[in-house]
Amino acid sequence: MALASPPCSSSFETGGFAALLRMRMPGEAQEHCRFDEPAYTPAGFRNSEDSPMRITWYGHSAFRLDFKDKAVLIDPFFTGNPGFGGDRKDAVKGLTHILLTHGHSDHIGDTVDIAKETNVPVVANFEVCMWLNGKGVQKIDPMNIGGTTDQGGFTVTLVRADHSSAMIEDGVFSVLGNPGGLIVKALDEPTVYHVGDTDIFSDMALINEIHQPQVAMVPIGDRFTMGGKIAGMAVKRYFNFRSVIPCHYGSFPIIDQTPDKFVAEMQGHSTKVIVPEKGKAVDV
Ligand SMILES: [Zn+2]
Repeated sequence: MALASPPCSSSFETGGFAALLRMRMPGEAQEHCRFDEPAYTPAGFRNSEDSPMRITWYGHSAFRLDFKDKAVLIDPFFTGNPGFGGDRKDAVKGLTHILLTHGHSDHIGDTVDIAKETNVPVVANFEVCMWLNGKGVQKIDPMNIGGTTDQGGFTVTLVRADHSSAMIEDGVFSVLGNPGGLIVKALDEPTVYHVGDTDIFSDMALINEIHQPQVAMVPIGDRFTMGGKIAGMAVKRYFNFRSVIPCHYGSFPIIDQTPDKFVAEMQGHSTKVIVPEKGKAVDV
């Protein structure tokens, strides 16, 4: 589909909520974004022995992925995160993208500030993107469960999670679509699955069959997500991960404070459990 429009990144760049809605009217010419760019062709995007993907955990569900020329923050909850560890400056240095699993404050976190500060695109479900746009975030790339977007050098797929997604401000709830997990794929890099917040569900088998993720971040803290024992069961029953990083624990006092239950459940399994030091990148 050829469109007579100026090029933009793979994300929408908007002049506000109304402009974005205008852009999405069916049959109307796209003013800001083109869809006639070639399909995912990560030229020169090759892994090598000395540049493995690196993953940094900042506490709770906040991670940074570094691979080749990409620096991707997932669920950057820094301010107010009782479990935050690391350096915010390092976390946003050279940032290229922000990805969000769902619209809870412990996952959207510092997204508005970081997006404005760095002008990087935010990839999230449609409702979360609209909410962010209403807060003045201009570069958004809305999607929904089952969809894949080309981020120029890697793709993001939003997959199912059994959870909820809403923000509350001044006593008013904004329901922000469905929660999800994120599959990040890049040529010659391990496929990464940030599971988001969820319980175990049997369609995890389909996610494994379709995407074959090799590295995963899995919530284990109980109360709001599956606990360590069930998370271990999910990993062992449905996936063939090379390595798994537990998350969503050790932050708020009402969830589990250690990964011990998960580590115990994974004992003896071929999937390597990585419990990273916060703020310290690990190779995967
Ligand atoms: Zn959460």
